[in-house]
Amino acid sequence: MNKTWDVVIIGGGLSGYVAANFLAKTNLSVLILEKGKKVGGRARTDIVQDQYFNLGPHAFYQSGKARATLEELGIFFEGKAPQAGGLLIENMKFYTAPFSPIGLLKSKLLNLKDRFEWITSLTKIKQLNPDDFATLTFQEWLSQTAKSEHVQLLLSILARLATYCHAPEKASAKVILSHLQHAMRGVVYLDGGWQTIIDQLHNQAVISGVQIHTESNVKQIEKNEIEPFQLTLSTNEIIQSKQVLYTGSPHELNKIVADCHPQRNFFDQIVPIKAATLDVALKKLPNPNHLFALGVTEPYYYSVHSNYAQLSKDRQSTILHVLKYHHPDEKIDVRAEKSNLEKFLDMIQPGWRNYVITCRCLPNITVSHRLPLVGDERELTQSETHIPGLFIAGDWASPNAILSEGAVESGKQAAKEISRKNEVI
Ligand SMILES: Cc1cc2nc3c(=O)[nH]c(=O)nc-3n(C[C@H](O)[C@H](O)[C@H](O)COP(=O)(O)OP(=O)(O)OC[C@H]3O[C@@H](n4cnc5c(N)ncnc54)[C@H](O)[C@@H]3O)c2cc1C
Repeated sequence: MNKTWDVVIIGGGLSGYVAANFLAKTNLSVLILEKGKKVGGRARTDIVQDQYFNLGPHAFYQSGKARATLEELGIFFEGKAPQAGGLLIENMKFYTAPFSPIGLLKSKLLNLKDRFEWITSLTKIKQLNPDDFATLTFQEWLSQTAKSEHVQLLLSILARLATYCHAPEKASAKVILSHLQHAMRGVVYLDGGWQTIIDQLHNQAVISGVQIHTESNVKQIEKNEIEPFQLTLSTNEIIQSKQVLYTGSPHELNKIVADCHPQRNFFDQIVPIKAATLDVALKKLPNPNHLFALGVTEPYYYSVHSNYAQLSKDRQSTILHVLKYHHPDEKIDVRAEKSNLEKFLDMIQPGWRNYVITCRCLPNITVSHRLPLVGDERELTQSETHIPGLFIAGDWASPNAILSEGAVESGKQAAKEISRKNEVI
């Protein structure tokens, strides 16, 4: 007889591991199935020629809910907060960013009137309740909040930095503002990369009896009335489980669920947040003064993460990330992305190519599976889907959060719902 698990978690990323760690506190049997060779999903860190590469730039909100939840699970963090400041780049010209008090004094981007409006807007953001803007897009909120076009533009750059959303006209003001509030309280770059979070979660899960199978791609989920779920792997192995927690993408879920289910249309309509990244390790930085920069009208990001976090074995090299935020309606020319990212880096660090240890380009990576839209949180108020016993978690599955915040919160929520359901049973 095949074993029937109490819970199978599909996906060994942040959300799957958070759920597993909470479920490990119950007496339920838990199995994680991960299709990759390695666990971690998009929070994994690859070691390439002794350099620690996160999948693109990863900054952890210092005072988000995810941090509190991970600390509740006994996970600790080492790393440093990058300094506020840096450059804004417009038409090849460099401006001091008004993101710190000194930057504000020095910046030539804003006139006196705009400076006042900029400071007032930032203060407003810190104090507002995001729920009050649940019916607005971020662009609508911007138009209500700031008169100056310059200030509106700067606020949208700051929001893009905090959320990776490059579609203010589509994105929900509520979700963007709550993430902006987290980001304004500071972020940390983690020593050893985000794999350190995954490794701790993995070790704790294993010690608590959770089983983890890698290279196990679930290609179908089936459910007949009173029978347990039948999960078919690519190898045609069948695994049975009373409950399933799915943490991959909403589109893939539609493909692997055999039944036509009522949430199919909603899942299909979810649009991901995407980006192109260039992850670079250098022997030295040609211009050590340039540590952080953002494009103004061109949606680019640059930051030297190793200035704050230990990201190589010998601690000697420089690890930096360049990223381009994709608009959801943009046609991506995968080949052009790399050269555009390199050109942006040429402007900030001319001669960088002479010092390359290794570098990698990911031209169209999903940063978060859901661009948050006005009102879509109503479809995500619970983890259990309309198929009883099938739960969802992941950075798209939380009503009010995206990115790691959404992944961690939805993982915790799903574990809570599964535990509650099993108490009743
Ligand atoms: C370039 C980039 C920059 C980012 N920067 C930040 C940042 O600064 N701050 C922040 O908070 N977040 C950031 N993020 C987002 C963050 O990494 C993710 O939100 C988080 O890691 C998602 O975790 P998850 O568990 O929801 O999904 P994933 O990490 O994608 O995990 C899902 C797992 O499920 C597995 N899987 C899927 N389908 C199947 C199947 N059928 N069978 C078996 N296994 C399956 C996948 O292989 C994967 O390992 C960034 C992401 C990227 C790509």
